[in-house]
Amino acid sequence: MIADPKILILEDNQSDADLLRRELKKSGLNFTSEVVQTRVGFEYALQNFKPDIILSDYSLPSFDAVTAFQIKQINYPQIPFIIVSGIIGEENAVDLIKDGVTDYASKGKLFSLSNKINRALNDTEVRKEKTLTDEKLKVQTAELILANQELTFQNEEKENRAQDLIILSANLHSQKEELHRANGLLLIEEEKVKTINGELLQLNQELEDRVSRRTIALTESEHRFRNMMETIPQIAWTNTADGEFIFYNQRWYDYTGLGQQQTNAAGLKSVIHPDDLKKSVAHFGMIRQAGDGGEFQLRGKREDGRYRWHLVRLMPIKDEKDQIQLWVGTATDIEELRLLQQQKDDFISIASHELKTPITSLKASLQLLNRMKESPSARMSPLIVQANKSLDKVNVLIEDLLNASKANDGQLHMNPKNFILSKVIIECCQYIHTEGVYTIKIEGDMTVEVYADTSRIDQIVINFITNAIKYAPDSKEIIVYIERINGMAKVSVSDQGPGIPPEKLRFLFDRYYRVDNSGSQYTGMGLGLYICAEIIKMHNGQIGVESEIGKGTTFWFTLPVAFS
Ligand code: ADP
Repeated sequence: MIADPKILILEDNQSDADLLRRELKKSGLNFTSEVVQTRVGFEYALQNFKPDIILSDYSLPSFDAVTAFQIKQINYPQIPFIIVSGIIGEENAVDLIKDGVTDYASKGKLFSLSNKINRALNDTEVRKEKTLTDEKLKVQTAELILANQELTFQNEEKENRAQDLIILSANLHSQKEELHRANGLLLIEEEKVKTINGELLQLNQELEDRVSRRTIALTESEHRFRNMMETIPQIAWTNTADGEFIFYNQRWYDYTGLGQQQTNAAGLKSVIHPDDLKKSVAHFGMIRQAGDGGEFQLRGKREDGRYRWHLVRLMPIKDEKDQIQLWVGTATDIEELRLLQQQKDDFISIASHELKTPITSLKASLQLLNRMKESPSARMSPLIVQANKSLDKVNVLIEDLLNASKANDGQLHMNPKNFILSKVIIECCQYIHTEGVYTIKIEGDMTVEVYADTSRIDQIVINFITNAIKYAPDSKEIIVYIERINGMAKVSVSDQGPGIPPEKLRFLFDRYYRVDNSGSQYTGMGLGLYICAEIIKMHNGQIGVESEIGKGTTFWFTLPVAFS
């Protein structure tokens, strides 16, 4: 029940209202109350006071209980409404209760009012609860209906699904059989595939083995090829069938001084002498087109900027189908060879010229003698002398040629013995034609004894002195000086001639070398000093020259002194 109910009292008589409240308090009821007398007050209190129960006088001057009850019923039907009146009869009261009024109490029997209030409030409470329970029930019933509908729906769904499942199951069954059959076929196919796979694997393995064997062989062959390219003394390179350069050996980089990048950018053409470039490019083209290899010569620039002649060879490397796979190129330095060739050519022309002069003179002498043979006269004698001189000259030339050839083959024979050097030198100087113009002075240690081939030493001294006469004609005095130095005998032949340029000195003992190669002023084949050097070498001695332009030249050699 409500603990402190709010009681709205509709009563125009204040003392009745007070009495009413006193009576209620007396009966032990705890409550709050508000008293209204008019319709406006009543309606206001309904809204704002919010009473739990209404006690109403039956009849008020401007209002009445029945109207108040009807007003209340519109918006607040649950609030109990008890009429408290002194004038209303029992019958009326019963009618009012029938119409919905909760109860009736006589102003004369107010002691029963609190019970009535309690009961009315209780009833209201019970009704409220019932209404609530009814509401809940309604909700539950609605929920049940909904749940039931849901269940029915689910059931239908289930049935549908069961139906679907049955169809699906039937389908599955037939598919399973299909699969079974297909599986059987697949198994057969799989067997076949396995066999083919096995064969393929074997084939693959064989191919892989062959490829790897081939690769190893190729790598080894390439390695060997590159090694070979590196070991040969020539510059070497390779290029593709289209002429694109692939590889240059180290010799290329050493010779040209170019780096890898410069080589890749500029290549072989960059080092070819401008005068040879056009011809070389044409040669390259022709050889590549013919496809059989070939060679030509060009001048290639060395690191120091100097050009040297090279023999370029191009060789095609073909496969088993005769297709060109690669070009291998080599460049052999033939500068020395060309120089030698040049020297040889020069030598042949000089030698012919040298031989021709005495032979022509000899021929002239012989022709004159031939004409005189019928009537010999004193004029014949100088002609015979002249003829002999020419013959001697030819003889000397041929002797030089023979000696040079022997020296070159290492076949100069020596016949050494002990002898006093000065003696042999003095003796040989007597035979040198000085034409009475030149003086040969022999000075120094006249006692030195050497172990050597007399005639060869003789030959060297004559060569030195005749050279001095030939190449230093203004030097009237030729000094031969003999001395002993460091256990060796040294012979020097000095003149006061024009001297020899210092840059030419180191070539003097080379074969065919002549300082003035024009061949016009002096005769000679450039063999004398070469033969001298070879002879001295065989005696384990040394040979050399010192010269100063405008002052003169000294040629010298040393020999081992004789064992006593
Ligand atoms: P050739 O037979 O031509 O004289 P040699 O070998 O004897 O050859 O000499 C080589 C060259 O050395 C000569 O061509 C000459 O130019 C030079 N020569 C030799 N002796 C003298 C010298 N005394 N003074 C200047 N030049 C010399």
